[in-house]
Amino acid sequence: MNHDQSHRLFSRAQELLPGGVNSPVRAFKSVGGEPFFVERADGAWLFDVDGNRYIDYVGSWGPMIVGHNHPAVRNAVSQAIQNGLSFGAPCPAEVTMAETITRLVPSCEMVRMVNSGTEATLSAIRLARGATGRNRIVKFEGCYHGHGDSFLVKAGSGMLTLGVPTSPGVPAGLSELTLTLSYNDFDGATELFQQYGNEIACLIIEPVVGNANCLPPRAGYLQHLRDLCTRHGALLIFDEVMTGFRVALGGAQAHYGITPDLSTFGKVIGGGMPVGAYGGRRDLLSQIAPSGPIYQAGTLSGNPVAMAAGLAMLELIQAPGFHDRLAAASNTLCDGLEAAARDAGVPFTTTRVGGMFGMFFTDQQVDTYAQAVACDIGAFNTFFHAMLERGVFLAPSAFEAGFMSSAHDDAVIADTLTAAREAFQVVAA
Ligand code: PLP
Repeated sequence: MNHDQSHRLFSRAQELLPGGVNSPVRAFKSVGGEPFFVERADGAWLFDVDGNRYIDYVGSWGPMIVGHNHPAVRNAVSQAIQNGLSFGAPCPAEVTMAETITRLVPSCEMVRMVNSGTEATLSAIRLARGATGRNRIVKFEGCYHGHGDSFLVKAGSGMLTLGVPTSPGVPAGLSELTLTLSYNDFDGATELFQQYGNEIACLIIEPVVGNANCLPPRAGYLQHLRDLCTRHGALLIFDEVMTGFRVALGGAQAHYGITPDLSTFGKVIGGGMPVGAYGGRRDLLSQIAPSGPIYQAGTLSGNPVAMAAGLAMLELIQAPGFHDRLAAASNTLCDGLEAAARDAGVPFTTTRVGGMFGMFFTDQQVDTYAQAVACDIGAFNTFFHAMLERGVFLAPSAFEAGFMSSAHDDAVIADTLTAAREAFQVVAA
């Protein structure tokens, strides 16, 4: 593959943007090499500036659940922009969006729209602290909740990729308030709540971890956390920025049958536009300004173009059987990858929940952070590049989930598996 144009752009970008990118994992630091620059995207495919095309399992890191550039989403945006780009006053689509989210996710009796997943999680913990009058929060090692100060403690995603345990610039006085737990450790959670229970405002969790590869919860784990929070008067926050509308129409909370107090969303609800939301119990959301004293605001929040894209996306994924088909596609891909690895003699396993999946170079089943980081990262990096050369784009880090879309049909998955059979041979060599 020729990458001359991408190489030239990356050289220019490195002079102007930190690391040449606007979000760290895009820079390929963990897998080595240089990123390609995208000219356009369509369905399951990305097309770069050098004329190469790739089957895409990143899907803009989650939003593209119906594939790229879906005509229904594109048309909704085209129509919306005829009326103006931003009003700074309420618009009808905000109400429709709130009605749609509260209908699809019943634990959300009210919602507030924001502009990113980070804003959603920041706002949710401010609400939790304000509502409980407590300061400590609990998060999980390897979970990523955006780049808010309180979350950059033992975080996943780019923090994990770059091996940064805690970010400089976060005041110690704030990070000390963030307590961390090992995901899927029942006793650790019980003990932490025994020690700090009456100081904990909230526990925030990715109900399926997607920022330390893909780690599903053990049976009963989310219920255990629900019970601990209830017993100790702490709020349970499901960060469904990644899982929301993806692992099931009603998110991970519907898939596992657990009711959180607050939920955060992003990615899919924006249809590719910069959107986030947080929602939950009415008595909690009523405490947000202007109906209550806890402050949170946004110049572009509820933006009419973004709402139009998100609503078109949410319409598409309500088609009967949509998530069943997505889960079936994840299973076909993951089963095929495991078979190809077995044939090549490469230790490899997968996880999958609905439209997200994980790939681990190990012969063990993986469901903890410690197991995820103990996998053969070198083997992943070799596999990543072997797949890229064969026209398949996986997330450029061993610590990110993969994303399935409805545009990944049987033919696309078959092509992926053909590439994978060769790529596993490269790993085995
Ligand atoms: N929460 C989770 C679970 C995420 O995966 C992410 C981003 O990947 C965020 C929050 C932050 O969202 P954003 O990047 O839109 O700020």
